[in-house]
Amino acid sequence: MSIRVGIYGYGNLGRGVECAIKQNKDMELAAVFTRRDPATVSILTDTAKVYHADEAVGMAGQIDVMILCGGSATDLPAQTPALAEHFNVIDSFDTHANIPVHFANVDTAAKKGSHVGIISVGWDPGMFSLNRLYGNAILANGSDYTFWGKGVSQGHSDAIRRVEGVKDAKQYTVPVESALEAVRAGENPELSTRQKHTRECFVVAEEGADLAKIEKEIVEMPNYFADYDTTVNFISEEELKAKHSGIPHGGFVIRSGKTGWEEEHSHVIEYSLKLDSNPEFTSCVLVAYARAAYRLAQEGQTGCRTVFDIAPAYLSAQSGEELRAHML
Ligand code: NDP
Repeated sequence: MSIRVGIYGYGNLGRGVECAIKQNKDMELAAVFTRRDPATVSILTDTAKVYHADEAVGMAGQIDVMILCGGSATDLPAQTPALAEHFNVIDSFDTHANIPVHFANVDTAAKKGSHVGIISVGWDPGMFSLNRLYGNAILANGSDYTFWGKGVSQGHSDAIRRVEGVKDAKQYTVPVESALEAVRAGENPELSTRQKHTRECFVVAEEGADLAKIEKEIVEMPNYFADYDTTVNFISEEELKAKHSGIPHGGFVIRSGKTGWEEEHSHVIEYSLKLDSNPEFTSCVLVAYARAAYRLAQEGQTGCRTVFDIAPAYLSAQSGEELRAHML
């Protein structure tokens, strides 16, 4: 019998999860839930239906794992604990500073309902976190580096759109090549925020807007741009649509360290991602962890977990026997 997956929230991740389920033969899409009028949300799978979010709890018996695809800012802190009482749940919560609180809330709810919740699944947090941990555990004497990009930062793009006179915008985070090279060479450099990443902005201004004023406001914006070398390019609406409508992302997690009695040998561990579509890739990770949650629940486990707590074999559709024969 296949694993019956529910999708809760149908935005970029919701659609990505639907596509990922199609590629995993041991899973089927059971239902999609939305807070909007279900009649206004059309999905790609013709064997599943869209329901209102309020109907989800009543369908608990028909869903093995619910993948939550809401936003991290306000949706997931409320939705994941609320649903963990009724379902095994997965989310991609990415507000790093609030993960401990979110973990505690989901843990309490999941234990109350005897379910499993796996939070902060994706690439960062997610696959990058795992690779930071592996690097740290293996090279005890070393330094950690995470570079993001080149990729679209939704939060920074939103911040530019809020500037007066801006009609639309896209912001790319770009790693500084010379910093990457120094890290890869095992030089263990100490890098400031400005030395690690630059920010490239593509902005469509409203007609007659003061471009110099917009540029100044962007590059001096505290928390978002002031600590970076930022370039602002004004382009037409057509060009933004034609060249900047994708959601690519990626980056590098690097651990470099030294071993030997006199620390004479250097080692560099590098994990890199180059993603054409951030939400579609994130969704593939969510679906693999949904399989793990299903298996943990079958074993009678309950409570909250993160990617750190899940043994790798639980992610794979292959059996332990198959993995030992072909993957070791
Ligand atoms: P979206 O903004 O596309 O979707 C978020 C929610 O908004 C949906 O669940 C949906 O809820 C609602 N929504 C979507 N489209 C519409 C619309 N047209 N009108 C009204 N409401 C809509 O966000 P993403 O799917 O791109 O990302 C979700 C979260 O995933 C992000 O907040 C981010 O924090 C996290 N993320 C984590 C990553 C990681 O590596 N851990 C990587 C990438 C993202 P409903 O259907 O109920 O209306």
